[in-house]
Amino acid sequence: MDHTHRYAAMSIPNALIGIAILSCLMSVAVLGSLFHTQVPGIRRWCVASGLLAVTATLLLFRRSDLVVLGASVLLLVASLLAIHGFRQFFHRPPSVIWEYGALCAILAGLVYWTYVSPDVSARGAMISGFLAYIRFAIAWIVQRYRPAGRPKYGYHFVAVAAVLGAVVHAVRCVVYGSGLAHESVFLEETPLNVAFLGMAILTLPCLSVGMVMLAHDRLAERMERLATIDDLTGALGRRAFIARAEALFALAKVAKSKLSIAILDIDNFKGINDRYGHAAGDQALAHVALTISRELRQTDVLGRIGGEEFALLMPLTGKDEAAHLTNRLRALVAASVARAPTGDVACTLSAGVDEFGNGDTVASVMARADTALYAAKANGRNCVMVAASSQPADGLVSSVPA
Ligand code: GH3
Ligand code: MG
Ligand code: MG
Repeated sequence: MDHTHRYAAMSIPNALIGIAILSCLMSVAVLGSLFHTQVPGIRRWCVASGLLAVTATLLLFRRSDLVVLGASVLLLVASLLAIHGFRQFFHRPPSVIWEYGALCAILAGLVYWTYVSPDVSARGAMISGFLAYIRFAIAWIVQRYRPAGRPKYGYHFVAVAAVLGAVVHAVRCVVYGSGLAHESVFLEETPLNVAFLGMAILTLPCLSVGMVMLAHDRLAERMERLATIDDLTGALGRRAFIARAEALFALAKVAKSKLSIAILDIDNFKGINDRYGHAAGDQALAHVALTISRELRQTDVLGRIGGEEFALLMPLTGKDEAAHLTNRLRALVAASVARAPTGDVACTLSAGVDEFGNGDTVASVMARADTALYAAKANGRNCVMVAASSQPADGLVSSVPA
């Protein structure tokens, strides 16, 4: 008796369960270390890993009917928590009502096949069927809601790990459900059982590594956003704008396509601050940026290059067209007001426009557009000027009718 007991303790299923416990505990530790980042979904993933560790520990020490039933329930709940975490991560509603219905039906089935008409195969098939669904659903969610413009690796990694797990469970569900194979004692050490258990357990650490990859990508995205986007206006910050300008200029040179830039500066902004207060000035700045952004084409790029100074890159656009587009933005801003607690703030802007030429650098075009902007200010403000780059420096500016 003693001998049999010791043998059971060292069986391959038990060794695999031991590995599962360790890997789940590692996942709890790693995911727990990311709690403070407030990335949505992390908490549920962490609790799910913890529940799996408890489930595996229960099965390692005792496999009475009641313990197996309890472990099965924990396993199903952990899987639901995991998929809820993925939905939260992608800002979707976490719960899907029929999944709770399915869970209740499975619970009834588990009780029936444990106490009324004991059938280990039927229980295994049912649980694996549910787990296969959860894993496929995770893969689908990750592919469906993968953010555009982010590195794809982590998202594909999770999807592949989830699909592999799903396939293992789906095959187990079919094999035991259809009677192709039969399991008479739970976690019996048959080659088939060992294979299923090993593969299912192997996909767990892959999934949790994948969760960490996704959380890491979300954090990297936040940092990149902080470093590139101006908080107040939502426009690119100066450094990111110049980098984008360099990249677009390089592209335009290769494609021999046109690229224009406008520099826009709010008129008498100091006066607005003095009259309405700095907070209202901030609101006016955000309002101007929003008014402009709403009108932009998909390829246009807006940057905030100074306090109340913006720059606009217009790819595939010659300077005359760019001047007309900029003038339309100017007219829109002039016709609108920013609502602030201290009053309705009306502001206008002046702009200088020019087109990138072959021998240019970003700095040289910006300098010419800036000179045109100064001319617009000298011209009485609330107007747009185009730099005449083919003309000598002193005849630089020609005006666009307002
Ligand atoms: P001009 O028509 O010649 O451009 O006159 P201006 O008053 O707009 O130009 P000036 O450069 O003299 O002043 C710009 C003002 O913009 C000064 C500064 O206090 C204000 N400013 C810069 N950044 C911010 C900001 O983030 N918020 C607010 N509220 N004001 C800002
Ligand atoms: Mg100004
Ligand atoms: Mg200025």
